[in-house]
Amino acid sequence: MGELRFVVQLHRARRLHYDFRIEVGGVLVSWAVPKGPSLDPKVRRAAFHVDDHPLEYVAFEGVIPAGTYGGGDVIVWDTGAWVPYKDPDPRAALERGELHIELHGQKLRGKFVIVRTRGDEWLLMHKRDEHAVDGWDPAAFPRSVLSGRSSDEVKADPHWQWRSELPADRAAVPVRGAVSDEELAALDGLGEAGTWEVFGRRLRVTNLSKVLFPGRGGEPAVTKRELLRYTSAIACTVVPYLAGRALNLHRFPGGSDTKGFWQKALPGRAPDWLPRWREPSSGTEYLVAGEPAALVWAANFGGLEWHPWTSPTDRPDLPSYALVDLDPGPGTAWADLLVLARLHRTAFEHLGVAAYPKVSGRRGIQIWVPVRPGPSFAETRAWVEELSRSIGAVVPDLVSFAWERAGREGRARLDFTQNAVNKTLVAPYSPRPAPGAPVSAPIAWDELDDPALRPDGFTIRTIGERLAERGELFAGVLSNPQRLPPLS
Ligand code: MN
Repeated sequence: MGELRFVVQLHRARRLHYDFRIEVGGVLVSWAVPKGPSLDPKVRRAAFHVDDHPLEYVAFEGVIPAGTYGGGDVIVWDTGAWVPYKDPDPRAALERGELHIELHGQKLRGKFVIVRTRGDEWLLMHKRDEHAVDGWDPAAFPRSVLSGRSSDEVKADPHWQWRSELPADRAAVPVRGAVSDEELAALDGLGEAGTWEVFGRRLRVTNLSKVLFPGRGGEPAVTKRELLRYTSAIACTVVPYLAGRALNLHRFPGGSDTKGFWQKALPGRAPDWLPRWREPSSGTEYLVAGEPAALVWAANFGGLEWHPWTSPTDRPDLPSYALVDLDPGPGTAWADLLVLARLHRTAFEHLGVAAYPKVSGRRGIQIWVPVRPGPSFAETRAWVEELSRSIGAVVPDLVSFAWERAGREGRARLDFTQNAVNKTLVAPYSPRPAPGAPVSAPIAWDELDDPALRPDGFTIRTIGERLAERGELFAGVLSNPQRLPPLS
């Protein structure tokens, strides 16, 4: 299932180099490329074949302890899918010493060839294709495509450590999953407002005892201080979904029971250090929450809901996901929505497509399908529409479609129109504006059969424990881009 993956990790060990790794036969076949890959077809880069790495290493970013093999810091400099061309059997091509590959990453795109010259010495070259860029220098793009962080930032505040002595599926050990106890204590020690130093930034935080969410089921209400606590605790998990994307905020500065409004443009009074992106056609400046402190800033600004764009800032025309939004109409029973979700589960299994469900935190279920860069929004929208129509045909009494009037009594709405530029779904782990501060929570597919599952069952008070128990169920959205197969 899914596609073959590749990763280029910028690795500062004894000396800086780029580790170029491609998935072949269940491992990462690897080369160390001192000067890094280039899109310039005139450039031939020396690449030294090194030991295979386990597949689990593909998304690793963090530090390797000093004194162990490769000790230093690592960032995911680029990642995505790759396909062989010219030769359908990559293993045999590697044995012959010449492999032709096509990369679909965020930085590296197009056709490359890697050729053995002698022993472990190879050459990596980009072909002259439509992705070729003369003079392209990898050092000009130094940041992680996963977190938006630089090598120095990762070294200063690593979230993960790679312990090669442990089994590969447990070798990535959290160093610091979140904010420190000292930082949280500093927040608790503030009065109604003050300056909070968190994640290396100084933030002016205000109205800390203001109630932002009424309690539910007899629980205490959620104050802004608690929202900031949660945001800082979850930030390192959420930031990979926000890095490199414009962030639209659904703001409720008066609290979740007031009328919210969309804040898309970054306000003029935003701090200078906030990462941002100017959208070329409109000139609008957007927040890019590529570092944890930026998300904490957004929460303090009343951004209760975090909506990252479906496309990255470097290619806002190309969606990274196809989105299925199962949106209940008034009177739709949760049991009916589950029927629809299970039909989608079956369809994705049948198609061999890895798709990742989450409950919305309100009443619905969303399914994110990571796609490798290529299809336009019109194409992902058409694909989701066709999928929805096929599934709708099985249960015509349960569904209505995006082109129909919303809210036909008792019917769920299959809304494929979310697949458009600057239309967004809520980020995983984002709070939703409702009593108790529910969050949009990734689920495993088999949880659709759990009678206890509720669309708003997880809150900012319970999601941390669930993450610790179940792990990050949405991670494949970041690491497993696929080609959408034809549906008919
Ligand atoms: Mn290395």
